[in-house]
Amino acid sequence: MTTTDFRTLADELRARRAPGFWRSRRWRLDQLDGLAGMLSQNITLWEQALAKDLGKSDLEAHITEISVVLEEIRLAKRNLWHWMLPHPKPVPATLQPAWAHTVRDPLGAVLVIAPWNYPLQLALAPLVGAIAGGNSAVVKPSELAPATSELIARLAPIYLDSRAVRVVEGAVDETTALLEQRWDLIFYTGNSRVARIVAAAAAKHLTPTVLELGGKSPVYVDASANLRVSARRLAWAKTMNAGQTCIAPDYVLVHESVREPFVEELRKAVLEQLGTAPATNAEYATIVNERHFDRLRGLMSSGTRRVGGGINRDELRIEPTVLTDVAPESAVMAEEIFGPILPLVDVADADEAIAFVTEREKPLALYVYAEDTAVVRRFQQETTSGALGVNVSLAHAAVPSLPFGGVGESGMGAYHGRKSFEAFTHEKGVLAKPTRLDTLQLIYPPHSEGRRKLLRRLFR
Ligand code: NAD
Repeated sequence: MTTTDFRTLADELRARRAPGFWRSRRWRLDQLDGLAGMLSQNITLWEQALAKDLGKSDLEAHITEISVVLEEIRLAKRNLWHWMLPHPKPVPATLQPAWAHTVRDPLGAVLVIAPWNYPLQLALAPLVGAIAGGNSAVVKPSELAPATSELIARLAPIYLDSRAVRVVEGAVDETTALLEQRWDLIFYTGNSRVARIVAAAAAKHLTPTVLELGGKSPVYVDASANLRVSARRLAWAKTMNAGQTCIAPDYVLVHESVREPFVEELRKAVLEQLGTAPATNAEYATIVNERHFDRLRGLMSSGTRRVGGGINRDELRIEPTVLTDVAPESAVMAEEIFGPILPLVDVADADEAIAFVTEREKPLALYVYAEDTAVVRRFQQETTSGALGVNVSLAHAAVPSLPFGGVGESGMGAYHGRKSFEAFTHEKGVLAKPTRLDTLQLIYPPHSEGRRKLLRRLFR
């Protein structure tokens, strides 16, 4: 596409919003059905693409990508009529009689930029919100998951209204050209470095942004934790998609009194879930490319290796690896790991863990494993994060009634379920006042002394 093509594309999608035929509930429901068909009628193709891009097993692809979007579609279809209803609001006595309500307007033409790690879910789940909100949209999938990107681009025109939904494939050049256009919202998922480029481009047109970012999501394992269950849940969360998950547990602050039994439980949990040779297990995903593989290999030299450590560069596989005696200033603690390496940092108590977390950037997710409810309460009250998981990791993303998004360096804005509809619409306030009796005349000038006194009493 040339620069002119990008401008034409954005202009077309923005111009169409005026007559806005796709504001209707019928159009939105038809498109949501189309999107559901695009997924459910091509399950094998999606699974093959995700296996090619990330070595995802068919079951993992199904549970963490396809079914997540289908569930979002079902929820939006069920609730759309309710979300689109005007919501009545109270009116102050001084303005009575009058009726106030809010309605949700589509924003117009939106741009969705997706990353590679859940390349289907993170391109299409935002699109559910965009369509439910009555917008036109351009979706830009990640070039680092080329098979999934190609499939999205190939199937979208078959199942969706091409006048309103377009897919643009490409990398930095194409995304840069898209960002130069004027949009009504940019919904970006990815790293915080590119998020700054997105935000700067958006500022030129005063375009609002939703930024779904990442960073290090910490875990605290308390002395009171159920170590067996905690280790199982953490091993599962850290090895899902080989740790390439934005809300994957990044590192564990472990109470020093339980560190050794916890390492043993982690060893057992990895063995139970992925066997003696995880790197050859077909259920276990691969690392996305050589660059990330080499980066992760470099991070494995921090601390002492206690579990795993095996690698296979030809197949881009890294075994789940647990490191202990990790210094807080070591390389593995400096950046988001985004791979199956789990460093353990000893702490003396919950105070030290809370201080460690609050001294750093606000995370996308924070996980506390403890049976002591006072410890859990302290984490809820004394820390800030996009989400908090208590004795569970990752699963909050599968609860559509919970907002999904970061805070501070981990992002701004949220989506999933009703929040997606809200993210892609503007809440418009409407006030209507009957004309039969002009009660406002009290406020019109000129104001006699008596009227001035009355108005002062009314508007205290
Ligand atoms: P990525 O490299 O696929 O990049 C994301 C998108 O940005 C792509 O579509 C890419 O084409 C585009 N892009 C890359 N460089 C660009 C540039 N210079 N200018 C304009 N566009 C550019 O994915 P990534 O950023 O490596 O994704 C991983 C990061 O995303 C991690 O930090 C992870 O935590 C985060 N993430 C967050 C969520 C969430 O929901 N909050 C979900 C998944 C991933």
